[in-house]
Amino acid sequence: MDYPNRFDVIVIGGGHAGTEAALAAARMGCQTLLLTHNIETLGQMSCNPAIGGIGKSHLVKEIDALGGAMALATDQGGIQFRVLNARKGPAVRATRAQADRVRYKAAIRAMLESQPNLTLFQQGVDDLIVDGDTVRGAITQTGIRFHGETVVLCTGTFLGGVMHIGLDNHAGGRAGDPPANALAQRLRALPFRVDRLKTGTPPRLDAKSIDFANLEEQPGDSPTPVMSYLGSRNDHPRQVSCHIAHTNERTHEIILANLDRSPMYSGVIEGVGPRYCPSIEDKVHRFADKTSHQIFIEPEGLDTFELYPNGISTSLPFDIQLRVVRSIAGLENAHITRPGYAIEYDFFDPRDLKHSLETKFIHNLFFAGQINGTTGYEEAGAQGLLAGLNAARRARGEQSWCPRRDEAYLGVLVDDLITLGTQEPYRMFTSRAEYRLLLREDNADLRLTQSGRRLGLVDDARWAAFETKREAIERESARLSDTWIQPQSAEAQRLAAKLPKPLSREYNLLELLRRPELGYADLADLKGEPVDDEAVAEQVQIRAKYQGYIERQQGEIDKLKRHEATPLPADLDYQRVEGLSNEIRQKLSAARPETLAQAGRISGVTPAAVSILLIHLKKRR
Ligand code: FAD
Repeated sequence: MDYPNRFDVIVIGGGHAGTEAALAAARMGCQTLLLTHNIETLGQMSCNPAIGGIGKSHLVKEIDALGGAMALATDQGGIQFRVLNARKGPAVRATRAQADRVRYKAAIRAMLESQPNLTLFQQGVDDLIVDGDTVRGAITQTGIRFHGETVVLCTGTFLGGVMHIGLDNHAGGRAGDPPANALAQRLRALPFRVDRLKTGTPPRLDAKSIDFANLEEQPGDSPTPVMSYLGSRNDHPRQVSCHIAHTNERTHEIILANLDRSPMYSGVIEGVGPRYCPSIEDKVHRFADKTSHQIFIEPEGLDTFELYPNGISTSLPFDIQLRVVRSIAGLENAHITRPGYAIEYDFFDPRDLKHSLETKFIHNLFFAGQINGTTGYEEAGAQGLLAGLNAARRARGEQSWCPRRDEAYLGVLVDDLITLGTQEPYRMFTSRAEYRLLLREDNADLRLTQSGRRLGLVDDARWAAFETKREAIERESARLSDTWIQPQSAEAQRLAAKLPKPLSREYNLLELLRRPELGYADLADLKGEPVDDEAVAEQVQIRAKYQGYIERQQGEIDKLKRHEATPLPADLDYQRVEGLSNEIRQKLSAARPETLAQAGRISGVTPAAVSILLIHLKKRR
């Protein structure tokens, strides 16, 4: 049958990409349909119930700055929060939360169900309605035809999914869920480049069988960090600790002696796995000189005894999994509640996408999430939001929107994917961003909320909170620069203990804040009324302390933009350009671009490489 209502945007798949895509399109006022296998699994975390971490929290905060759901759900479901790299510079600081998977999922579902313009429907999609080179809708397993202007495909690990435990394997999208095979076949018939990737998950453990006295306790941070710009500690449920265990030489012996029973090493799995989240058999094999690896024993929730042993993802057979686990101090009597497994699935070459995440070959069809070769909830959610908003704009006949690499990690993520493609599951790191001092997790709202408001993604409440914060930052910065401390004053004497030598002249508070020995807390109540909003104080401090570096980075961006038309000499010997990788030298030698802008568009030539070329040209003159 044909479903009687027509939609502006149809989203297929209710995982992290699909839920952000559907919410974004609906927030923008488009009639949106979210079609998914099972409404009970909306927002389900297939693997570790944790959100954020290095590079990833930057994406979560950007999703939040654009009005998305992930950070808000994390604040409602988070049971342990930490700031990683807290002692390093603000560019690489990252918030990570262990979540209660049931509470997180419930928070996402509540947001979906209360979102105006959004319709949910539970059923697998087997086919797309394609008219020439334009998508027109989707057809479910029972033959219901849903018609729409645009379709966003967010099917995760489900396309042609095959799960492996040891040498046994069976079809599945993840444990307990069916694969999407009919849709996978249909997509393979369209002109996209398709390949296989794999990922894995560890066995889960019963906390009642663990000897916690033999593990190191790792409590969350105090005061508890918050994920969303609108979040508050009061949203958090009860907080709990994680624990740390270690593999040992015995563990490694068991693994090495049984590698022939691992589907990866026996050649059963062909797909490439995530380099930065390898299985324990991979780690033991690749880093043979290491005698121990750390394992974080993380709770799956407040109302369950199940634990997630982060660091021993495996697809070894169950009997070996049990021996591996029980070889670890503290886990000698561990009971495995669910075996670990690996999953192989189809992904599509992201070089066949535009910056908007629309496919190049089928108009109005967008791909987001793991289907594009990424791994991780945060990478999926960020792409989902972008694809959803661009599908909505397309449905309304508007130009697409994508942030640049110097505006957002979301821009870096999409640009990397569509220009470089990926040979292994792609995850975000701060090192992927060349302008990371500008792209901090603390300022995602200041970078993006204004755009989000213009795009129709940001509601009145978020906008009002943002404006209040922005004004407070300006006001406080102005107050600090207008407040002067005289060298002989009582205030100067209070500061003297913290400074290598007493003040020799009059300073304003902003100048003093730039000094490495002093923080906002040292200066706040020295004179005048300080702000009592931590986020405002943090922003004022970071701006003051890093102003020079931030200005220099902004200068580089402006310079690159100005020099895009700079010609590259036809006889330029790229082998002699210092600082370029061999791969980039080869690509440039083969392509011989005429301008810097053209060089930057060659797949694999990074903006950092363009910057090196610019410096080289200047030296040649
Ligand atoms: P998913 O979260 O997979 O959601 C896909 C959704 O689409 C599901 O709701 C599904 O039911 C629905 N769907 C699929 N096909 C159809 C269809 N035809 N019709 C209707 N609905 C459909 N990430 C990490 O960062 N680190 C890890 O170590 C890690 N390990 C993982 C281990 C396993 C075993 C799995 C399965 C995933 C792992 N991940 C890991 C990946 C992480 O789960 C994904 O990156 C993330 O969930 C991707 O989000 P997504 O929205 O693209 O897809």
